[in-house]
Amino acid sequence: MQYISTRGQTAPMQFSDVLLMGLAPDGGLMLPQTLPQIDAATLDKWRTLSYTELAYEIMSLFATDIPSDDLRKIINNTYTVEAFGTTDIIPVTKLTDTLSLLELSNGPTLAFKDVAMRFLGNAFEYVLKRKGERLTIIGATSGDTGSAAEYALRGKENIEVFMMSPHGKMSAFQRAQMYSLDDANIHNIAVEGMFDDCQDIVKALQEDADFKAKYSLGTVNSINWGRILAQIVYYFKGYFAATENNEQKVSFCVPSGNFGNICAGHIAREMGLPIDRLIVATNENDVLNEFFNTGKYTPRTSSETYVTSSPSMDISKASNFERFVYHLLGNDGEKVAQLFNDVRSGKGFDLSDKLNDVQQKFGFVAGKSTHQDRLTTIKAIYEQTNRLIDPHTADGVKVALEVAKAGEKIIVAETALPAKFEETMHEAVGAIELPRPAHTVGLEDKPQFVTVVANDAQAVAKLIETHVSPR
Ligand SMILES: *Cc1c(COP(=O)(O)O)cnc(C)c1O
Repeated sequence: MQYISTRGQTAPMQFSDVLLMGLAPDGGLMLPQTLPQIDAATLDKWRTLSYTELAYEIMSLFATDIPSDDLRKIINNTYTVEAFGTTDIIPVTKLTDTLSLLELSNGPTLAFKDVAMRFLGNAFEYVLKRKGERLTIIGATSGDTGSAAEYALRGKENIEVFMMSPHGKMSAFQRAQMYSLDDANIHNIAVEGMFDDCQDIVKALQEDADFKAKYSLGTVNSINWGRILAQIVYYFKGYFAATENNEQKVSFCVPSGNFGNICAGHIAREMGLPIDRLIVATNENDVLNEFFNTGKYTPRTSSETYVTSSPSMDISKASNFERFVYHLLGNDGEKVAQLFNDVRSGKGFDLSDKLNDVQQKFGFVAGKSTHQDRLTTIKAIYEQTNRLIDPHTADGVKVALEVAKAGEKIIVAETALPAKFEETMHEAVGAIELPRPAHTVGLEDKPQFVTVVANDAQAVAKLIETHVSPR
């Protein structure tokens, strides 16, 4: 399989090369040239596979330049009972007649990003070793990406990690999770700004071609293709768990920010998985909700971005969205380049003439949830089902219930566990004790390791120069 860029100006590449890339050289995002089509007979065969077997079947269609045995090893080391706490890896739990939860958050950092990041950590180490290269990972996080990346990459050979987070904008638990790591290859950087400022710094450093080459910069942000690939697997798993045969359809509702998670759902649907609708749930930062309801994409500035009680969805522009737009525009790289150059210069774009395709052909629906909605939903679900859901998952449940059609089965992605967001949970259901996995007990009391820097790419570049020797 060959990969191309959404902006059409990058020569086709193999999986191993794409895996180590951030943005494509032409500023776009990498995608498979064509998507494998999964027929009914194959779905039948896959239905009864274990998670690791299913992951192998799907990933081997995309990672065609990694020998089978090596890929199997990477997958088996990634999706272990030790890391995810269940043999199912990603269990599906029925909540009500309409709703089920896709439990994506049982990994080391209690959020869905572990699922993809652990794969990336192992795949990176493998590919780097094979190529005899090293990598300096730079990343931006509003909480969950950073911790998942750091736990997945700590102690890995030939990898150095510089993770930027918005100073003072994460929960105490999230801070403790990241900043308590003392591995020599992990560097926490708190930037005096918003998440999007962190993301802009990552982009600025990536776009400095000399600096990028000199320090072998790479990224594990949600634009990384390897992450999308790992996420495709659990849409298949969720579908099989919730259905008895391929005649049945289900919808997925995904609490969304950078559009990474649901982008994998979109690709699974394009591969032929019988997904009815893909429901995008946003919080008050509703740039995606607006697009999927109007066809108008209007990125916000960082001063227009709200700090909310579902912080991992506090984004003003959705970095993976370009992948969907590429498919929506019939793989027209030139048009995509034009639209996203406008985005970069602060403008938005209007695809309202394509809204029918967005909603009918691609099955997208969207809704929005507010702080009050989260509280109400957490409380209602707890009272009805005795199950505690985290604020992000609550955004998903709220929107799913709002848009549900009669008889529709909706699987809501559980993107984090409640223990990460104690303050909001207590506001919703009172000061009850939140279940906490044993390995996180006492985390907040550990010493923390973090450097605070100004909102300035050069300040971050200096830190990298201090710790990494140039090529
Ligand atoms: C990252 C994250 C999201 C948003 O996922 P995207 O892939 O950016 O759309 C939602 N919920 C939680 C808990 C997250 O960590």
